[in-house]
Amino acid sequence: MTDLFDVLIVGGGPVGACAATLLVRGSSNTRSPLSVCLLEPKRPQLPTAGSPLDSRVVAISRASERILNSAGAWPRVTGPRVEAYERMRIWHESTSSENALVFDAAEVGEPNLGYIVENRLLQAALLDEFTAAGGHLLSADFQDLRVDADAVVVNTSTGTFSAKLVIGADGAKSAVREAVGLTASVVEFNETAIVATVATERSHQKTAWQRFMRDGTLAFLPLADGTSSIVWSADNNLATRLDALSAAEFESELNRASDLALGTTRLASERSTFPLKRIGAHRYVTQRCALIGDAAHVVHPLAGQGVNLGLLDAATLAQMILDARIEREDPGALRVLRSYERWRKSEVAFMSTAIDAFDRFLAHGSGPVSRLAQLGLGWVNRSQELKRMFISRALGVAGELPRPAR
Ligand SMILES: Cc1cc2nc3c(=O)[nH]c(=O)nc-3n(C[C@H](O)[C@H](O)[C@H](O)COP(=O)(O)OP(=O)(O)OC[C@H]3O[C@@H](n4cnc5c(N)ncnc54)[C@H](O)[C@@H]3O)c2cc1C
Repeated sequence: MTDLFDVLIVGGGPVGACAATLLVRGSSNTRSPLSVCLLEPKRPQLPTAGSPLDSRVVAISRASERILNSAGAWPRVTGPRVEAYERMRIWHESTSSENALVFDAAEVGEPNLGYIVENRLLQAALLDEFTAAGGHLLSADFQDLRVDADAVVVNTSTGTFSAKLVIGADGAKSAVREAVGLTASVVEFNETAIVATVATERSHQKTAWQRFMRDGTLAFLPLADGTSSIVWSADNNLATRLDALSAAEFESELNRASDLALGTTRLASERSTFPLKRIGAHRYVTQRCALIGDAAHVVHPLAGQGVNLGLLDAATLAQMILDARIEREDPGALRVLRSYERWRKSEVAFMSTAIDAFDRFLAHGSGPVSRLAQLGLGWVNRSQELKRMFISRALGVAGELPRPAR
């Protein structure tokens, strides 16, 4: 006999932990609360006050802020380690940062465009909220599963469990995706992201800075202690060369690539590298199983949308499951899961295509389409209407939103 849960989620990264918390909190005051088990072998601790900021950070949109609020985790996230950013300055190397396309929160009556949050803080806050709300967190590795008519039997490193629904939130290399036979297209960008914390001569002015170049994209994300986190998505050849440089040599390449928009820049942490791929599962659901977050789709980091798309998946799927619960429906029923897939797959495809176009034409392109894209930055800058449209996309509040994001 194995423990039987309503929902078992594999992977307590930010997306899986958020889905788990929304399900527990959303059903706790009903006549039949959902039993939710979350498998996560690597639980991070909340960073201690005053400890240096991590270089791995994410830009969190307004929609994500609302979802984290609905999950009860936002008060655990927000505080002195989080920076609200009020502006974005985007420019191409063919022009200077003074001619950048500027998106300003004040222009659309918003207090900010989002927040820069350490990955570790976000994940730890969600996991703490999940356990505080009564969720069952298991420190175990997923091994394999078998889908039966009434439940899924899941083997883990600490035992066997079963659930009416299994959610794969185990990241880009999802073992759950593999185990249930959901195929995915994988496209190499032939780029590597170099991530580090840097100290800049001039203040970041609560602004996210992004420069498109012919061999990649360099972003500076403002951090709460005045430093910035850089994400330099460079063509593989360049990335290999940059990775081999000493700190001083790297800093001088960084000053060249940033065009000194923030003055001279010094490394304030080690550098880490992330090879970049686009992954898209052909289907997000199958009998008694759904994929969310990076397990379903991985996009280029240049638009800072990976976690934001994943949190919208989590909120949408949680809404479908909670609604099905009210109707006394099986959470693993394909009808319930398909409505999640229909909603999210088209939204993700739209965003992924738009991000790829930015990467292809602004970061790498030459020729007429690329020139047109460069001119396009100036046109957007001169049109309030286009700016508003882009800002509402960046805030994640365009289109139909699941309840936790409203
Ligand atoms: C350089 C870079 C910069 C980025 N910047 C941004 C940004 O600014 N904004 C943004 O929105 N996104 C950004 N992203 C994307 C973002 O980091 C990912 O989209 C996000 O981490 C996905 O979250 P997830 O929970 O789906 O997966 P993950 O964060 O990968 O979490 C998966 C979890 O599953 C667990 N797991 C894996 N295998 C198993 C197993 N067998 N059993 C049990 N558990 C398992 C892991 O321990 C992990 O905790 C960036 C990505 C990169 C590479």
